[in-house]
Amino acid sequence: MPKTSETTLEIDLGALEHNHNYLKSKLHSSTKFMAVVKAFGYGSDAIRIAKKLEALDIDYFAVAYVKEGLVLRDAGIKTPIIVLHPQPVSFGVLIDRCLEPSLYSPRILKLFLKTASEKNQKNHPVHIKFNTGLNRLGFWESDIDFIVEQLNGREELKVVSLFSHLASSEDEKEKDFTLAQIESFKKIYAEFDKKVAFKTFKHILNTSGIINYPEAQFDMVRSGIGLYGFGNDPEMDKQLKPVATLKTVISQIHRIEPNVSVGYNRKFTSDGYRITATLPIGHADGIGRQYGNGKTYVSVNGKKALIIGNVCMDMIMIDITGLDCKEGDEVIVFGKHPSAEDFATTANTISYELLAGISQRAKRVIIGT
Ligand SMILES: *Cc1c(COP(=O)(O)O)cnc(C)c1O
Repeated sequence: MPKTSETTLEIDLGALEHNHNYLKSKLHSSTKFMAVVKAFGYGSDAIRIAKKLEALDIDYFAVAYVKEGLVLRDAGIKTPIIVLHPQPVSFGVLIDRCLEPSLYSPRILKLFLKTASEKNQKNHPVHIKFNTGLNRLGFWESDIDFIVEQLNGREELKVVSLFSHLASSEDEKEKDFTLAQIESFKKIYAEFDKKVAFKTFKHILNTSGIINYPEAQFDMVRSGIGLYGFGNDPEMDKQLKPVATLKTVISQIHRIEPNVSVGYNRKFTSDGYRITATLPIGHADGIGRQYGNGKTYVSVNGKKALIIGNVCMDMIMIDITGLDCKEGDEVIVFGKHPSAEDFATTANTISYELLAGISQRAKRVIIGT
């Protein structure tokens, strides 16, 4: 891998392919695979990720908002794209660009029908989302009659799939709850299917669901974090390869006398002679203040170095006392060691938040093909 000379988020397409193939090996040959590329591809580069996955014949993409789908269409992505959480203000452009909305409430269904009708749509593909316990978005089971009534005699929409989302698929302790969600989904779609003349496909699993509830694959799975290299479980993480590596460099080294403070608000005070390094990365790049003050380490030439003092907007300081390094040397913030999951865990958060929060200021570099 190339050594970096500035803060860089390296995106390894070879790792993406490996993760895709691994997850796919867990699926029946008939199960469709939806790749979730919302939030810039979990902070990486949605376009490059989507292009690579399209070349691997992915069946579907998912984004959260219409704007994210437009970026993919502008880049020439032809694969169907579901928009998980569209806002009515963008229904027009969603239709124009052949994006497929998740319809999740009576209000959203009515407003979408209205726009689809104004735009003379015929069979515009839509997906109906049911709430089975996450209590975030979705129709209730008791809305089925309403949905069927609304669709009756209308040709603007074609319901392509019915889906739901699990609240705790990674959590063994919540197994009963998860199984109840799956049962509830089955009951809902059986009732729906009874009341309509058309067929739809069904999906409920996210990445940890693929691993923990393989019997609930139905017709498609939706994987995000797994594709980027994390499985919400140390065993699974071993099988996956992190796609993103965040690298930076040492800008300046300071030799610090005992009892001297470092950084804003003097949150670090040296207990002896220390050597510190300043790195050109800070909370504006997505390394939040929760990682400062000795909570988290980065890797300098393969050795751990703690982040000391408060994280600044554009910089962090690390303790490199006793480490063999010099100004200009590369520093791994996260990648293989520490992994994004290790890094996130030090501050009680999860890889999802850390990855998706790496700001656009960090240069993206693609490696692999
Ligand atoms: C983000 C998201 C996913 C992807 O979940 P992972 O745990 O990253 O695999 C799947 N489905 C929905 C509805 C989502 O919002």
